[in-house]
Amino acid sequence: MSLLVQKYGGTSVGSVERIQAVAERVKRTVDQGHKVVVVVSAMSGETNRLIGLAKDISVQPKPRELDVLVSTGEQVTIALLCMALSEIGQEARSYTGAQAGIKTDNSYNKARIKDINTDKVMSDLDKGRVVVIAGFQGINEDGDVTTLGRGGSDTSAVAMAAALKADECQIYTDVDGVYTTDPRVVPNARKMSRITFEEMLEMASLGSKVLQIRSVEFAGKYDVTLRVLSSFTDSEGTLITKDDGDSVVEQALISGIAFNRDEAQITVLGVPDTPGIAHAIVGPVAEANIEVDMIVQNISPDNVTDFTFTVNRGDYQRTYDIVNGLAAELGATNMSGRTDIAKVSVVGVGMRSHAGIASKMFKALSKEAINILMISTSEIKISVLIDEKYLELAVRTLHDAFELDKSGNL
Ligand code: ADP
Ligand code: ASP
Ligand code: MG
Repeated sequence: MSLLVQKYGGTSVGSVERIQAVAERVKRTVDQGHKVVVVVSAMSGETNRLIGLAKDISVQPKPRELDVLVSTGEQVTIALLCMALSEIGQEARSYTGAQAGIKTDNSYNKARIKDINTDKVMSDLDKGRVVVIAGFQGINEDGDVTTLGRGGSDTSAVAMAAALKADECQIYTDVDGVYTTDPRVVPNARKMSRITFEEMLEMASLGSKVLQIRSVEFAGKYDVTLRVLSSFTDSEGTLITKDDGDSVVEQALISGIAFNRDEAQITVLGVPDTPGIAHAIVGPVAEANIEVDMIVQNISPDNVTDFTFTVNRGDYQRTYDIVNGLAAELGATNMSGRTDIAKVSVVGVGMRSHAGIASKMFKALSKEAINILMISTSEIKISVLIDEKYLELAVRTLHDAFELDKSGNL
């Protein structure tokens, strides 16, 4: 007998029929002799609908109230799924995040799970019940509802699996695993049977939303066996594994291509090239809790330089206003910004031991006349910033150039 945590995302519970199909799958798992804890998302589109309602009333709703609102989506799903389970003869109990003992810190809208009290869940499992928990939410020390950021149900599931010492955390979604890139953009993307935590972390942080980045961090830290699979089929899915160094033969040079449209660029022109200038620009932005991603500062023969950086598109206006307010003080001659840009990244641990990946990437993009605006690299990834209108072409081009549709692209 195993203890399994199964998470079902928005599309997987998107209608009454889908919820009934999930109930059948959960019951099948129980009938095979396993204990099952289910974590669910809101029905597809619901979280966006709720955020839309809030924005119709207030440009900047209070974060606390926003959490009270958006957490309701998941509460609907837990009740409906338990009703569906009951209809097919499976005893089940639904719990909100708070009821399931999920304690978080105080940062509304992007809370972190601090601790989980599993007593209630354990006692239900011992009584032969399925436990159905609302993902994406918890409770802070003031007793307020908090949410974990978009895609946060993945993290609820992994955290629950870690706390329960579950044998496996299964993330059921609308694709049958992790692909070499988003299969909706590149139809011949290849499903990977395995990917390392390190690569999955990089893919998630560079925009592949198949798993929320924190869920991968959590799984790596607490040694949770994590699998991504489809709620629509019966395939094995993708196992996220530790890089044990044994699988060199299998190790691909590039494992995947991630992309992110959620980018914006700001350039400060003609600032004096003196010590402290980078801090003078980036410091106030960071103080406003805005994350700066890529940074480029030009070489300046005449002691005057241009400084360019990127932020999340949602933070663009706020960042622009902050830097604009500083421009005079900085001695800048001008400032510009744009939001019609996107980031494409190639990711692979195999890159560590191979030169020439960057040049192959740049060559493939130049063949399609795609201009690179900025570049950033790490040991296991190369990212470029490009015009958003070329994003899909760039992803397809790189997927072809690195022959990711074929396995073993060494
Ligand atoms: P859920 O609602 O189940 O959490 P998400 O929409 O959050 O599902 O994540 C699944 C989606 O992630 C897929 O439909 C797919 O379009 C997208 N995706 C992006 N990159 C990848 C990738 N490399 N492999 C698989 N899916 C990906
Ligand atoms: N419902 C939340 C969202 O849409 C959480 C999740 O689906 O993981 O972001
Ligand atoms: Mg998701």
